[in-house]
Amino acid sequence: MNTDPIQLHKQYMVNTYAPNLLLTRGQGCRVWDSTGRSYLDFLGGIAVTQVGHCHPKLVSAIQKQAATLMHVSNLYYNENAPRLAAKLVEKFGVPGRVFFCNSGAEANEGLIKLARLWGHPTGRYEIVSMRNSFHGRTLAAITATGQPKYQKGFEPLPTGFVYADYNDLESVKAALSHKTVAILVEAVQGEGGVVPATPEFMKGLRALCDEKNLLLLCDEVQCGMGRTGTWFGFQSYGVQADACSLAKGLGGGIPIGAFVVGPKLSEVFQPGNHASTFGGNPVACAAALAVIDIMEKERLLENVKRMSELLHGELKKLAAKYPWMVEVRGRGLMVGVVLDRPAKEFEKALLAKGLITIATADRVIRMLPPLTLTSGDVREAVRILDEAAGQMIAG
Ligand SMILES: *Cc1c(COP(=O)(O)O)cnc(C)c1O
Repeated sequence: MNTDPIQLHKQYMVNTYAPNLLLTRGQGCRVWDSTGRSYLDFLGGIAVTQVGHCHPKLVSAIQKQAATLMHVSNLYYNENAPRLAAKLVEKFGVPGRVFFCNSGAEANEGLIKLARLWGHPTGRYEIVSMRNSFHGRTLAAITATGQPKYQKGFEPLPTGFVYADYNDLESVKAALSHKTVAILVEAVQGEGGVVPATPEFMKGLRALCDEKNLLLLCDEVQCGMGRTGTWFGFQSYGVQADACSLAKGLGGGIPIGAFVVGPKLSEVFQPGNHASTFGGNPVACAAALAVIDIMEKERLLENVKRMSELLHGELKKLAAKYPWMVEVRGRGLMVGVVLDRPAKEFEKALLAKGLITIATADRVIRMLPPLTLTSGDVREAVRILDEAAGQMIAG
């Protein structure tokens, strides 16, 4: 039998991805391919490897829990899920509760069900989400996702979703009706091209939700877990979400999702309303507890601030040198370099020189490096960007 992973992938895996390298090992901000070549990882598994690859404390927490108790179901207590819930509520900033699941889409699906159940007594169920947003790939999540390309061919879509323009409060107001129950928003749109919300927009949404008795639901799957320099993306705007979803960076590489609800929503779900077989799995929760512990002990939020200032500054210098780099934007270590042309070719040129990034929203190079990034990593990335950019011009 053929044992080549690439051949097996091509023959046996559902054809949803088009990967181009076989990666076999990781350490810190670096990964290695099957030929032994190393790459600087500025993709971080798409905002997942928050504390870098194979952080020894994360590895040992997973190993220890896996050798002790791997799974018990939610019919029994386990030691880790409640501890992690308490930690997340502490970071969330107001009293609340946590539900654990396995992915970002599933966390958002949970928020949607939560909003509907909360609105049910008053007959409200409609959710306003933003154009160019991304909320995941389940049917409800692609419907909340304000991008037709993710919805096409999967109709009929669930009802109860309407769209507004991001960073346009008037557009959100115009989308409201007597059926509206919640507004769903990313503090920084990731997939949509690394677009931060304006402070006026986030503050305006909070005020609107207070005025109309709506829920402010924040999708923190990508911009949460310290990525933008605060534990949750909405916190850097000085607003409080009524509930938020998490996944990606939460487990540092182990699959885990969650949603956190504040006081208004703490008692909405009751036994029987919602569940997930793997939710709160002791190994996944041990990983997330280790990620939070590492982030605290290594003061990674401060590192995000320092490294993002350095990275944004250096990228702006490059943008001044290469006129086809039209903008550098983002928050913390969620960074977008906007080009005046499709970004795929530049992404490939960077990969060929050993820097992993991702082209998104057609013209944007998106960077989501581990929060353990060092100034040496930043300088190496900038050198590769400069070299690749120079050759793009020459070519
Ligand atoms: C990636 C992402 C999701 C979906 O997460 P999955 O774990 O792939 O289901 C949802 N929302 C945002 C903002 C994301 O970036």
